[in-house]
Amino acid sequence: AAAETEQELTDGFHLVIDALKLNGIETIYGVPGIPITDLGRMAQAEGIRVVSFRHEQNAGNAAAIAGFLTKKPGICLTVSAPGFLNGLTALANATTNCFPMILISGSSEREIVDLQQGDYEEMDQLAIAKPLCKAAFRVLHAADIGIGVARAIRAAVSGRPGGVYLDLPAKLFSQVMDADAGAKSLVKVIDAAPEQIPSKAALDRALDVLKSAKKPLIILGKGAAYAQADEEIRSFIETTGIPFLPMSMAKGLLPDTHPQSAGAARSTVLKDSDVVLLIGARLNWLLSHGKGKTWGEAPKKFIQIDIEPKEMDSNVEIVAPLVGDIGSVVAALNAGVSSGWQAPPATWIDEIKARKEVNIGKMSQRLLKNSTPMDFHSALGALKQVIKERPDAILVNEGANTLDLARGVIDMYEPRKRLDVGTWGVMGIGMGYAIGAAVETGKPVLAVEGDSAFGFSGMEVETICRYELPVTIVIFNNNGIYRGTDIDPTGRDPGTTVFVKDSRYDKMMEAFGGVGYHVTTPDELKRAVDEAMDSGKPALINAVIDPAAGSESGNIGSLNPQSIVKKK
Ligand code: ADP
Ligand code: MG
Repeated sequence: AAAETEQELTDGFHLVIDALKLNGIETIYGVPGIPITDLGRMAQAEGIRVVSFRHEQNAGNAAAIAGFLTKKPGICLTVSAPGFLNGLTALANATTNCFPMILISGSSEREIVDLQQGDYEEMDQLAIAKPLCKAAFRVLHAADIGIGVARAIRAAVSGRPGGVYLDLPAKLFSQVMDADAGAKSLVKVIDAAPEQIPSKAALDRALDVLKSAKKPLIILGKGAAYAQADEEIRSFIETTGIPFLPMSMAKGLLPDTHPQSAGAARSTVLKDSDVVLLIGARLNWLLSHGKGKTWGEAPKKFIQIDIEPKEMDSNVEIVAPLVGDIGSVVAALNAGVSSGWQAPPATWIDEIKARKEVNIGKMSQRLLKNSTPMDFHSALGALKQVIKERPDAILVNEGANTLDLARGVIDMYEPRKRLDVGTWGVMGIGMGYAIGAAVETGKPVLAVEGDSAFGFSGMEVETICRYELPVTIVIFNNNGIYRGTDIDPTGRDPGTTVFVKDSRYDKMMEAFGGVGYHVTTPDELKRAVDEAMDSGKPALINAVIDPAAGSESGNIGSLNPQSIVKKK
């Protein structure tokens, strides 16, 4: 009789797990602890892959990039208060980048929290999460778990994707209910991100503007990569013959070596174009807000494809807004350009080609030096070759100079293979993204990290070793932030931007059973990366870079406020 009763009951733990499984969630990224330790254990026992991290921010970043790569919300599971706050940074970052993610956090007793009576890890988490994500929900009754999870999933992936917070107080997990009623309370989300097609009038308007262009340009953003409309986009670009410029995480949507790529002529095309079609790219700081010196004097018309209506006119006038999902919109545009489309004037194409050749020529000289110590370019020359030979590897990239220079130097050949600091230009995504990418895709990951950037998530090398992930980390070690040469003018301490000189990050990897390499030339670097990636085992390569190489804040030094009264 006892066994019979057990079978007829379910509880909060099981309902959360069943609701996630019903909606195709296969992986949870998190850090265990009160009150969600058993939830993680039970989820694992029920066949969900549970990847345990050392810090919640990295688990959250893994979940966020899982969302970007799969179009399903990545799930991050954290403990209350401090764990929640650590995960919240990743949730806010996911929202900013339009990645679907759900932060599920355990929380303390409502009765005590709301009366502020000082519970264990007391915090009004829902209120704190709300302004930092797309939507935030709390479930108080086991019978509402199905609806709560469904709402969280739909909110994360519908419209502009983003982060969602789901608050699950400790008491919920052990709440018991009838198993049949529990099963019936679960909701499978149908058509979570419905197709959204603009009107014929909007499409015709956009095509007319595009047809009028003498110097058209297409800018591909990470929204275009996210949309997984790769063939439609390729076909549109090749049919129209319009040059394209990929934003950082849209690189590889079409190969950077494609004849229509204007990547190596970026400043020319931004200045001289007359009509610009934005596909899943915002006119934010990364595109100088669509105005000013970067965009030149000539009048410019913008067409924009975006799922978010409020994005239109956010910085400049959009003469032809196309509000809809990229897959549907580009398919509709393809129908409109299928016959009799006139390629852009040859003068425009030739202008871009000439500029590209000059810039690529200049760059290639700098990539070939086989010297000690390495500078950023000579080291990146080796890694450029690695990705050329392994185009299906995923490149994770963060740092200042390490980021800015790698973005320009390393060509990408396939969609969604370049994952980097994104809209905030944030440091600390490295190991979280590397782990998320390896787990979701099973592909080899090459993480190219500044020594400073790596520090934000470096402890996760243990996680990488524990799950035996095919992740190769290259640390560009120039002894510090930006450079390794800062000094304290008073002579008391090390300079504010330097680290321990000649650190051996490779030994960190060895501590956990991974393979460490220490290299000082581009040839050594190439050999080490090849060996590591061939092995498919966790590896870390400490690549010694000249401490004097690199510039303050990389390419965005202009954003540093300057003191005019600074004492010498
Ligand atoms: P980047 O930094 O590469 O320029 P952004 O993050 O600025 O890219 O822009 C991505 C844009 O893509 C966002 O405005 C977002 O609303 C939009 N977006 C995301 N997914 C889709 C989709 N499936 N269809 C249309 N727009 C999308
Ligand atoms: Mg550095």
